[in-house]
Amino acid sequence: DVRLPLKSLPRDELEELAASINHLAEQLEQQEKLRIAMTENIAHELRTPLTTLNSYLAAIQDGIWEPTPERIQSSREEIHRLIQLVHDLEELQIVNSIDFQFMLEQVSLKKSMDQVMDLMRPSFQQKGVNLEKKDIPNVCVIADESRLIQIWTNLLSNALKYTPEGGTVEVKGTVRLGVVQITVSDNGIGIPSADLPHIFERFYRVDKSRSRKMGGGGLGLAITKTLVERHGGQIWAESDHGAQFYVQLPIQR
Ligand code: ADP
Repeated sequence: DVRLPLKSLPRDELEELAASINHLAEQLEQQEKLRIAMTENIAHELRTPLTTLNSYLAAIQDGIWEPTPERIQSSREEIHRLIQLVHDLEELQIVNSIDFQFMLEQVSLKKSMDQVMDLMRPSFQQKGVNLEKKDIPNVCVIADESRLIQIWTNLLSNALKYTPEGGTVEVKGTVRLGVVQITVSDNGIGIPSADLPHIFERFYRVDKSRSRKMGGGGLGLAITKTLVERHGGQIWAESDHGAQFYVQLPIQR
């Protein structure tokens, strides 16, 4: 018999055992709540574009609607949003899984940032938003380069998305006590202080209809936060005449 002889356990050990069982039960309950919320969110996110597409097709079938190029375009945009959502869901799942392997190596922070800024410059020019780079320190971090690039890309695409034409997005870096801090700041629409504590949560969007129109599924920052934390770093945001995102990563000496 391998069962624990509970009766023979001293009282304090029994209490300890009860406490850890309770803790485990709480964790399970928490996970279950998260799973339910996640399923509800996914269902909600899928329902809206699918209902829209279905009614478009029904109207065409009934001869009420001409499939004009504009209507085809807007249907394709709905489909694109669905594809993006599925992609982000997969990403979230991958980066959160315990057996996900990062390809860690010594990466130049400056190089990774330059690469992203060069790649994104045309999109900034197209929208008429200035992209400025200020003293990115020449330091190395231990990182999965493609994931580091994903972090910068997510932050810069958000800054671009939420900054109107004529605005400016600035990237800068500082080094202190073995840590490098990258700041991505914009002078766009900003984030209300009541929303700031929630923006890294899955599916959280400040203005649902506006963000949805801009193609946001509300998962980008949740993915970004997981990636930063899995590199031993921290991420947070502030909002003061626009939004500022801060990423701190340990420096490789
Ligand atoms: P989304 O895909 O909707 O952009 P994210 O997870 O990337 O989702 O961001 C969550 C929310 O945080 C966005 O919907 C938006 O309301 C807000 N947000 C993120 N970045 C910025 C920014 N630079 N300026 C203003 N709001 C932002």
